[in-house]
Amino acid sequence: MDIPGLIIDGARITPHNSFGVVNPATADVFAECPAATPDDLDAAAGAAKTAFKSWSKVAIEERSALINQIADAFEKNKHEIAELTSREQGKPLKAALGEVGGGALAWTRATAKLRPPVEVVQDDDAARIEVHHKPLGVVGSITPWNHPILIACWHIMPALIAGDTVVIKPSSMTPFGTLRLVEIINDILPPGVVNSVAGEGGLGRAITSHPDIDKIVFTGSTPTGRHIMGNAAPSLKRLTLELGGNDAAIVLDDVDVDQCIDNIFARSFGNSGQTCAALKRLYVPASRHDEIAEKLAQRAKAAVVGPGDQDGVQFGPVQNKSQFDYVCELTADAKKNGGQFIAGGEPMDGPGYFFPLSVVTHVTNGVRIVDEEQFGPVLPIIKYDTIDEAIAMANDNENGLGGSIWTSDEAHGIELAKQLECGTAWVNNHSQISPATPFGGAKQSGVGIEFGWWGLADYMQLQTINVNKKGGAL
Ligand code: NDP
Repeated sequence: MDIPGLIIDGARITPHNSFGVVNPATADVFAECPAATPDDLDAAAGAAKTAFKSWSKVAIEERSALINQIADAFEKNKHEIAELTSREQGKPLKAALGEVGGGALAWTRATAKLRPPVEVVQDDDAARIEVHHKPLGVVGSITPWNHPILIACWHIMPALIAGDTVVIKPSSMTPFGTLRLVEIINDILPPGVVNSVAGEGGLGRAITSHPDIDKIVFTGSTPTGRHIMGNAAPSLKRLTLELGGNDAAIVLDDVDVDQCIDNIFARSFGNSGQTCAALKRLYVPASRHDEIAEKLAQRAKAAVVGPGDQDGVQFGPVQNKSQFDYVCELTADAKKNGGQFIAGGEPMDGPGYFFPLSVVTHVTNGVRIVDEEQFGPVLPIIKYDTIDEAIAMANDNENGLGGSIWTSDEAHGIELAKQLECGTAWVNNHSQISPATPFGGAKQSGVGIEFGWWGLADYMQLQTINVNKKGGAL
């Protein structure tokens, strides 16, 4: 395997150090990743700051055309990027190809179409007041290990169309796909516009307090998000934080189970449950509980879990040891508290971090598997008697990323969706996102918005132009 390098100011640097990256299907280190030193980070942030002076002045149409060229290049290299992603993240190759092709590419092209509007808030004899948006500066991007390529594109592309420059640090557990993306991007963009650094531990912290970085965009856990907010405070960096979720779905008793069950299953277990806005708690009416639980268990038992490069595998391992241990801890705790696993529930044999798709019943709020974000292939099903009780249990959580209502009555579904305390509430769907639709968390699930114009605004500096038409003081 060719190891991608760190690109700073358009050139691959010679690393002084490296760290091991583990294949989650074998639990072995499969390659060494070049590690950036504090000096490398200074050089990357400095290059981005210098490049910002010219990149921010490139006409937006030209920036947009370059982003489309990047998308073309991703398309050409999609198999290589998907193979790297499957190997380091663990997901099946087909899913990795979907992430690169269906996700990252689509997002890149859609983001290239965004244009900041100029709004006129007053235009009369007294004054003309216009609201503009200007490039912001250097964006520090810190990405996680669950959808590394897709999320790198979510961070980089709005920065580029906004006229900002970037220093990106992928998760040290999944660095290679992103480093390869940045190499490809650097074949197209001027030096210094997108720079990559990688490293464990302190590097992320150093980015969040670096004086040459103006904004942090971060996707990851809520505790790390809180650290970043604190670290970024002395330099008043702008922040977009997309953090944990523990999304609840409420099924109503009028639901057509056969129509929605495959979608509920896919939204719960896609990427082995390692998705911020996955369906993580399922509330079902007592009258429909057994039927729904049984149908989900059947699907979970039939699913093929295994190494991502093996034919026929539908779900890969949990991505890393600490997440795997956490999933084991939550399932053991569920059992201790009366939980009944009607599918899975025990780690699989083998050297990798494999956990079967699991469905647990006889648990409720107050048990850790329900209260905490499991971020793994385990779905708790919770019975409810009244809809008010279900809404209260769904909202009884510090997270508020997404939520959903499943019903045959769309209007009723919308009314109930409005009662969910979350950034996105779906009706008869879950975790469905698009580049044009704003996405962000309520409560402890984040700060700021991603996607569409709402997301782009977070990468720009608003400037009000206020023209006095009277000559004298108003
Ligand atoms: P983290 O939030 O710790 O890591 C995500 C990214 O942040 C990585 O690039 C990491 O770098 C970096 N990082 C870690 N600490 C700091 C810091 N103090 N300052 C700046 N950057 C930092 O997630 P974990 O990997 O520990 O996963 C834990 C939990 O996070 C999961 O159980 C899940 O609940 C949630 N999660 C949510 C995701 C989402 O999409 N919202 C994605 C992944 C996880 P490095 O890898 O070098 O440590």
